[in-house]
Formats: sequence, structure tokens, C-alpha cells
Amino acid sequence: EKKPKLYILSDFHPEAVKYAQSLFDCVLYGDPKGEAWRTQATAILIKDYYITDQDLKAAPQLRVIGKQGVGLEKVDVDACKKRGVQVCNTPGINAGAVAEMTLCLAFSVARAVPELVLRQRVDGETIRKETIHGALLTGKTVGIIGMGNIGQAVARMFAGGLQTPIIAYDPYFPKELGPWEHIQHRRVHKLDELLESSDIVTVHVPLTPSTQDMISYPQLQKMKQTAILLNTARGGIVNEDDLIQALEEKLIYGAGFDCHVQEPPTKQKYERLWSCPGFVGTPHIAAATDETQIATINAATDGVFKFLKG
Ligand code: NAD
Repeated sequence: EKKPKLYILSDFHPEAVKYAQSLFDCVLYGDPKGEAWRTQATAILIKDYYITDQDLKAAPQLRVIGKQGVGLEKVDVDACKKRGVQVCNTPGINAGAVAEMTLCLAFSVARAVPELVLRQRVDGETIRKETIHGALLTGKTVGIIGMGNIGQAVARMFAGGLQTPIIAYDPYFPKELGPWEHIQHRRVHKLDELLESSDIVTVHVPLTPSTQDMISYPQLQKMKQTAILLNTARGGIVNEDDLIQALEEKLIYGAGFDCHVQEPPTKQKYERLWSCPGFVGTPHIAAATDETQIATINAATDGVFKFLKG
């Protein structure tokens, strides 16, 4: 039987490409900026790629989009629905990797690891422990905004590993609790309550018009002066200018961010944020473990295959 054709429009892990090739006749990195795939493709595989209504209009044969990862803010999902194009993203599969990175950023901020590495390795400084400050995370209260796959994985890791009580804020959070229900936690219905009571505040909501700038200066003001803010969700959920102001004024202890409004983030744009006391930033790599990359691309590939065969 002839394999269906799949246009792979992003640069994916070779092992995942090999898997896609076992199911599909693949056109690799099919001219992502050009028009070639539009006129021909019934199925495409993407990661960080904009799909607008215009794109769909120009691709009349397109039936299904495999999207590696969770966030769909770059894909016009309503237009896809309108035009009968199926979107297969891969929720849940990257939750472990993103949750691990969230804890990694928490530790990095609390113990100033990146700064100490730079001072030691780049500046050749001899650092004595008596001269540095660090914050303990064990037993601290963790406030989680957005209790989806990643928020729940973060809850399990913090509570399971560090015995942290959890405060959860998510207006759409299902009444049925997940496998973490034995964890000490309470739900709040007001964001302010979470902000005021948490030692670590961590954001795991999608970027939407209602979550844009959800944490701005007034929210940062509500946080404890000793608190750490984490964002491994999306740039723009926390207002960057307000965060700079808060860090410079030492309104909070520090912040660990995997996401920026401008991506990839450049030194030119982010010099000031990156120099803020207590800030640790990484370039959107929370899901970038080999295992997770392969698993998410394969899941998107499977989604496309099932759709075409089913
Ligand atoms: P999910 O859909 O399982 O969970 C999102 C949760 O947010 C849902 O429970 C939803 O009810 C809640 N929510 C929505 N709006 C809210 C609001 N205004 N206030 C509070 N809660 C709200 O998604 P997920 O898999 O947990 O992923 C969360 C986000 O993480 C994704 O949307 C994506 O943007 C981001 N992400 C980032 C990376 C990375 O590499 N840094 C990787 C994967 C996902």
C-alpha cells in the first residue's frame, strides 16, 4: 500500500524523522517559508510555526496538521475548524520535562547557581560560602497558576520531593482531582490569595487574551518580598517591563523564566532583564530533552496517521 505523504516543515530530531518515514512518504523541511507545500500537502508536521487563515486558504488540500507540543497560540484554531482542518497537538507528553525545568529554575534562582558558575568560571573568583546567600525550598508554599498537565506534574514534583504545601488557582480546573490528590493542597478562587500566600509562584496557563499580562506590577506587589516567580509557560503572561521594575526594586526575591515575549530572545533586547538581581533566564528549552522531543514528535505523527487512516 502506498504511504500517505507528510510535509515536515520544522527541523526535528532525526530519530523522530525516521519514525515519521516509517509511516509516511515524507517531504523534509519542505520549503517552510515558500509556497511549495501549500499547493500540494494534505498533511503537515510543525512545531514553532504560524498557521493563519491566509495559509489555510492557500492550501486547499490540507486536511490535518500535526503540531509538536501543547501551545497552539500560533495556529489559528478557529480557522482550522471552519475549514475542516484537524489539528493534532500533543498535550501531556512534555509535562515531565517542563516540570523538571520549572524546578531546575526554582533551584537556580534560590541558590544563584548560574551567577556562581559565571563568577567562578568566567571571572575566576574564589567564592567562600560565607559570602553568599541562598534560600531553602523544602517545606515552602508553592502557588500554581494553571492546573493542567504541567501544573499537576509540578505539584507532584514539589510536594513529593520537597514536602511543599500547594496552592492551586485554575478557574477551569476539573472537580475530579488527578493522581496527585493525596498531596497537601488547597484550591483558591482568587489569584491574589495565591500571590499573597506563596513562597514560589509558578505559571502554567496557555497564552490567551485573558492570560496576557496576568502578572503585572499590581500582582507582583502582592507577592512576598522573599518569593520566587517562575514562568515556563509563555512570554507575555508576565509583563516583562513590570518584572524588571519589581526585580530592580527588590519587590520579590527572584524570577526563573524559560519564556520571553521576543523569541528567540536576544541580548540586545534583554540585557536589562537578564542583569536584574535574582533573574535566571533560559531560551525556551523546557521541553528540550531528547526523550521528550522524540516522544512529542512521534505523538504528533501518530495523530496525523490515525486521522488519515481513521
Ligand atoms: P493544559 O492545557 O493541560 O493546562 C493549562 C491549564 O491552564 C488548564 O487547566 C486551564 O484550565 C488553565 N487555565 C487557562 N486559563 C487560565 C486562567 N486564566 N487562570 C488559571 N488557569 C487557567 O496545558 P499544559 O500542558 O499544562 O501546558 C501549559 C502551558 O505551558 C501551555 O499552554 C504552553 O504554553 C506552555 N508550555 C511551555 C513549554 C516550554 O517549552 N516552555 C512546553 C510545553 C508547554
